[in-house]
Amino acid sequence: MAVRDRNRVGVCKVDKDGNITELHREFWGQGWIYKDWAAFREHPEAPCYVPELDDVAYTGNDFLAMCNGQEEIAEELFDGVDWQNPSTLMTDWERDGEIDTCRKCGKLFLSYDVRKCPHCGEDV
Ligand SMILES: [Zn+2]
Repeated sequence: MAVRDRNRVGVCKVDKDGNITELHREFWGQGWIYKDWAAFREHPEAPCYVPELDDVAYTGNDFLAMCNGQEEIAEELFDGVDWQNPSTLMTDWERDGEIDTCRKCGKLFLSYDVRKCPHCGEDV
């Protein structure tokens, strides 16, 4: 059995405008996706994720933009996606009360079992 490069599943290449020129998905988590952990960590402008149903290459910067520019949330979101669009997972988290926006400082935080905003200490 071949040893898989655990930093990546699938292949995704884009041109300089971010259009996909080559895409191969692999099964990982719950679906067929492309996901590149090294790209997410080291090359925020490079594609790091393609969901199962859309031929859209997301970059680390895209994840960051979806997460109010907060790296710790972007990391959780990137970790969490395993077939769906990142924005869909964010919506699920908001609906399920797993993520919330602090009414005082306006920052996102993971709200499971949290009583105070981790950024400013406001009661939530
Ligand atoms: Zn706060």
